[in-house]
Amino acid sequence: MEPLILCSHVNYTYHTLQGETPALCDIDFQVEKGEFVSIVGPSGCGKSTLLSLLCGLLQPESGSVLFQGDPITDTSRARIGYMLQHDHLFEWRSVRKNILLGLEIQKKMSEETKQEADHLLKLYGLYEFKDAKPSQLSGGMRQRAALIRTLLLHPELLLLDEPFSALDYQTRLKVSDDIGSIIRKSGKTAILVTHDLSEAVSLGDRIIILTPPPARIQTIITTDFPKNVSPLGRRNIGIFTEYFNQIWKEMNPNEP
Ligand code: ADP
Ligand code: MG
Repeated sequence: MEPLILCSHVNYTYHTLQGETPALCDIDFQVEKGEFVSIVGPSGCGKSTLLSLLCGLLQPESGSVLFQGDPITDTSRARIGYMLQHDHLFEWRSVRKNILLGLEIQKKMSEETKQEADHLLKLYGLYEFKDAKPSQLSGGMRQRAALIRTLLLHPELLLLDEPFSALDYQTRLKVSDDIGSIIRKSGKTAILVTHDLSEAVSLGDRIIILTPPPARIQTIITTDFPKNVSPLGRRNIGIFTEYFNQIWKEMNPNEP
């Protein structure tokens, strides 16, 4: 079957008045439909740049990014959802109006989509807060609202750029478990960038490790957890620590 994303020998350099910053070197991987791929790498190595290329916001300098076999166009970009570190909820809109914003912008608002929005609000425990302002929600609830806004656009691919890093540790565990399970149940394909190695292992079917800048792929690790174990549940399985240590060693080769 054709991969959902095929990234072939991608290079990317930023050209600014201050000079050139090579960001990505010969990045080569593919993502199958339904897969959850985590990407880890040192800060500033090029992870966000890679996501911008995967959704067509940036074009590779050389190499190619194919989405379902074709270069990314405006039409295909509408099938890719991007969720960032900060939830970007607008304080002057209610929670419900915030999650409908994407549909409003894409002119896809209908009775049906509004019903779906309410269904997701109920499903993810936010319905009673639908008229609240974002500041009245906890960090985890805000992140869920941001996810609903993204899911309502029915993306085939979800790109998550450190979406939990603004949360405190305890909340981050819960929200990543929550959101990871939601994404799995909905059968979506997701690519998660994180600097949290445990998060990468608890969520990923595969983990792509990037080198210090400019990013190259150092290794790709495939995880083998029993199906139907939640992201939080994975943390209690023995091989979890093995994967963690393996990634740690890959990223810190000079430490004993
Ligand atoms: P990461 O997400 O892994 O922290 P980024 O992809 O944001 O890394 O950045 C990779 C490198 O590219 C960094 O050195 C960063 O300073 C540089 N960079 C990112 N965005 C720009 C930009 N718009 N213009 C110039 N350099 C940039
Ligand atoms: Mg980044």
